[in-house]
Amino acid sequence: MADTFQLPGFVDAHCHAFQRALRGRAEGSDFWAWRDAMLQLARGQSPSQVRHEYVAVYEELRHAGYTAVGEFHYLGLEEAFAAAEAAAEAEIEIVLLYVAYARGGIERFRQKSVVDYLEQLESLRASGARVGIAPHSVRACPRDWLEELGAYAHSHDLPLHVHADEQPREIEECVADHGLRPVELLAETGCLSPRTTIVHATHADGRELDLLAEAGARICACPTTESNLGDGFLPISRVLHRGIGLCIGSDSNVRIDPFEELRELDGIARRQTGRRDILSVDDLLSIGSDEGAASLGLEAWPTIEIDAAHEQLRGVGEPLRALVHSCSADVVVR
Ligand SMILES: [Zn+2]
Repeated sequence: MADTFQLPGFVDAHCHAFQRALRGRAEGSDFWAWRDAMLQLARGQSPSQVRHEYVAVYEELRHAGYTAVGEFHYLGLEEAFAAAEAAAEAEIEIVLLYVAYARGGIERFRQKSVVDYLEQLESLRASGARVGIAPHSVRACPRDWLEELGAYAHSHDLPLHVHADEQPREIEECVADHGLRPVELLAETGCLSPRTTIVHATHADGRELDLLAEAGARICACPTTESNLGDGFLPISRVLHRGIGLCIGSDSNVRIDPFEELRELDGIARRQTGRRDILSVDDLLSIGSDEGAASLGLEAWPTIEIDAAHEQLRGVGEPLRALVHSCSADVVVR
């Protein structure tokens, strides 16, 4: 008999599967140059490509111990159906965080109106897919779209995920346009609630964190991507101090390893504070699994098996502590 033990599966609350193809390429000098390369890749995607390539990415997620994924999808409706089929083939639970995009980006991302967007979302729901409302960002959605999307998420009890505060420039533009920082605008437009997840929040200030805490909203941190893109550090101890829930996402999929995401988070907390006890082992495992499931509105998702005889766990006193501090996803039984 194999020497294994079970854990709740990890939940990847923020994924753009197609971006896995960007790894190993020269991606530009900063976030905005990377974004140009990403847009170029996005432009050429097709339903059959998504159907085929997402299976491989989702299988990698599954092998790394993620058993559920929130796909933050802005490549169009047919491709969203294809992503759902790919997830079924890879045997990973999926929530399609179907993106509303009014302006900017590239043509294929956009809907003409909120009505058009909601029709597309409803057609996904009618097929049996789990969905969430996902205004891409305050950059991509004007105030009236945010108001309608926030109200719809509320009346249909759906998760609402939105990118915010990843890069300083996005905040400066929001302040110039609205006189408000991104999370302040999301609060004013009714987009903050316990069903809300702010993706990144890297540069959120104290007032924005207070708003998230008051609303019971979560933050999805994507530390390997945020590191790769030069985004900055999430102010983790300030987030925890306010009792804001945290979950993780593989985001650009530059790395696929939940242990590495959690260890990056813990490492940031340790470096920022000079302390080693900001995040407990239980905190980290919860951030990696049930907080992500709650963020996606999932009540059940598969467990995983850990190979207790793996060399990375040889002779350890406390296996769970060793897992989060010292192991890679190689310890997950495939
Ligand atoms: Zn993202």
